[in-house]
Amino acid sequence: MSHGQNVIVIDHPVVQTKLTELRDKTTDHREFRALLDEIASLMVYEVTRDWPTKPQPVQTPLEQTTGRVLARKVTLVPILRAGLGMADGVLKLIPEARIGHLGVYRNEKTLEPVSYYQKLPPDIAQSEVLLIDPMLATGGSGAAAISVLKKAGVVGMKFVCLVASPEGIAAVHKIHPEVPIYCASIDRGLNEKGYILPGLGDAGDRIFGT
Ligand code: URA
Repeated sequence: MSHGQNVIVIDHPVVQTKLTELRDKTTDHREFRALLDEIASLMVYEVTRDWPTKPQPVQTPLEQTTGRVLARKVTLVPILRAGLGMADGVLKLIPEARIGHLGVYRNEKTLEPVSYYQKLPPDIAQSEVLLIDPMLATGGSGAAAISVLKKAGVVGMKFVCLVASPEGIAAVHKIHPEVPIYCASIDRGLNEKGYILPGLGDAGDRIFGT
């Protein structure tokens, strides 16, 4: 993992190999979904590394001892629609997590985020929160989603994406500098339509075959 300015790049060789396959334009939606699922599991293993644990008594077949378990509940918040593509992979490692949904889309003309749906667990403020969106492009929807979560009382959240642009990181951290951003790559930049270069295209389209 490499760190800098509250951005953590998960440069694990297995993650990088899968990311390269995801970038390949000949990867179809069936393969794309499977790879994204795997990469999400691998990333969440690193992302959750510093979460607090609490002691829990456990009876082994031989004796009583004290193990450790996650101290707080976990809530995943995928940003619709592409964020859903990483939720299952995260759930494989944390099956007890609750899932909140945030619908934020980008107005194609203004490139501004519009929030159209939110459904979050009522006690989200007391949980660990992973905000999930594969592409951190302009940062508009990510920053808007973090604001929604803060309004809901969330303090300990991490933003998990797959590919980030320098512009997106700067935009999110301009408003929310304390929220750590995890990604598998920081790409070169954005094109005039707000797509990440070299990127992997439209993640939602590639996941859902649209
Ligand atoms: N959203 C995507 O799906 N891809 C990009 O490159 C940028 C935003």
